[in-house]
Amino acid sequence: MKARAIPVDPFDLVIFGATGDLARRKILPALFKRYCAGQMEPGARVIGAARSELSQEEFRNLVRESVEEFTPERARRPGMLAGFLDCLSYLPVDARGSSGWPELAAMMTGDRVRAFYFSVGPSLFGDLARRIREYGMVTEQTRIVVEKPFGHDLDSARALNATLAEHFDESVIYRIDHYLGKETVQNLMVVRFGNMLFEPLWNSQYVDHIQITVAETVGVGGRGDYYERAGAMRDMVQNHLMQLLCLIAMEPPAKFDPDAVRDEKLKVIRALDAVKPHHIVRGQYVADPTQPQLGQGYREEVGNPRSSTESYIALKAHISNWRWAGTPFYLRTGKRLVARSSVINVRFKDAPHSIFGAEAGQHSNVLSIRLQPNEGITLQVTIKEPGPGGMRLVDVPLDMSFAEALGPDGRDTADAYERLIMDVIRGNQTLFMRGDEVEAAWAWTDPVIAGWQSLGDVPKPYTIGSTGPLDADLLMRRDERRWRGINP
Ligand code: NAP
Repeated sequence: MKARAIPVDPFDLVIFGATGDLARRKILPALFKRYCAGQMEPGARVIGAARSELSQEEFRNLVRESVEEFTPERARRPGMLAGFLDCLSYLPVDARGSSGWPELAAMMTGDRVRAFYFSVGPSLFGDLARRIREYGMVTEQTRIVVEKPFGHDLDSARALNATLAEHFDESVIYRIDHYLGKETVQNLMVVRFGNMLFEPLWNSQYVDHIQITVAETVGVGGRGDYYERAGAMRDMVQNHLMQLLCLIAMEPPAKFDPDAVRDEKLKVIRALDAVKPHHIVRGQYVADPTQPQLGQGYREEVGNPRSSTESYIALKAHISNWRWAGTPFYLRTGKRLVARSSVINVRFKDAPHSIFGAEAGQHSNVLSIRLQPNEGITLQVTIKEPGPGGMRLVDVPLDMSFAEALGPDGRDTADAYERLIMDVIRGNQTLFMRGDEVEAAWAWTDPVIAGWQSLGDVPKPYTIGSTGPLDADLLMRRDERRWRGINP
């Protein structure tokens, strides 16, 4: 089975912030990979824009270096880089001034998709949106791409939405949550709605609880300033974990259509109960004195010895609707944990009665959907332990790794940015957050943060390389449950 790349019509893509970190690490290498896959037709143009006065040559050199640094060797097709660089040009443009805009407008000719990627801080979104319109660059085929963080709270998200709405219709705004571009995240929908097997059991009658874990081994690195203001709740839960929660909990949309899918996700967010303060555990990583080579603790890394920003959070959420009433959703995410792993575990209820007697023990089915790494699905089933001497039961995994099941050609190695950028060009908004979705997510997040702030909560320490603070285990144990392991 071979992953197919369907070419898109020639387009113009303007990247504001083309000299920045995101453009160099993600956007430009993603475009190069799509070029190598044959998805960018000859004639497609990528126009880099930022204030720096770079010549065409200097910009192309910067892109060449970025591609070489951030595209794995196996993904580079020999001899393709020169052709890709020919698609690129650069214009010095100031989002807040007039320099560069007439030249940019003069380049925007012809009837083709014009995508404007705002890879700049959100404070520039309004300036860019206004000038794109003022300089007459808006056509029927104009699309606007904006990056996370989309706001810092509900008020700021509303203000950003209002600013964009002054100039553009919602149908042309593409808010990126790169988690939605991951192959396995989309597979969540297919596993649920493409198979008869799971959906009849997908409710509080059969599901005991669901765990969503996004564990990282990296720390805050060079993003300390941003992270101090955000923390794990704003950086990960409000967007990425919320999206996973929506996909795992939503009702089947009538069709796989952008608004049908996003309507169902929105209903999940709106049905979320407020989280009780004692259902939240915040943590902060500390250095391991026995293994100092593993690195500094969070406070040292961000240079704030009194920081109370969480680098870890675990919480219990409830969705008040017919399907999920009574089924807890446990969410956790953290940095500098024992392994990098994003996984959703659906733990089914115990069989109502064991015909094998109490000594056989309690056994339960768990469906684990691994998003990264080693994408795949495992279903834990109970079987008889082999051998004579009575009926002893044992849990074994029915394990499917997508890489093995689909063969070497079957794995779509496209990363999230490749897929999302091509969806922008194709005009498919399914994998992008709608404005009301983002606002609803903040409306749920804000009181959670206000709650711990009013209590003066201090994050619990956890050692680098651990599974998180002990209190997160207690959160589960109080409910007579336990977290599944964090395995690479
Ligand atoms: P960055 O490295 O600071 O780059 C910012 C870019 O904006 C630079 O190219 C800068 O170039 C340009 N710029 C700044 N002021 C400008 C102005 N007045 N007019 C035109 N261009 C201007 O930031 P980044 O890390 O790439 O992040 C960009 C956006 O993506 C941010 O909103 C960030 O939160 C988001 N994001 C980043 C990442 C990531 O991994 N980096 C991940 C997710 C989301 P000049 O200085 O030459 O103008």
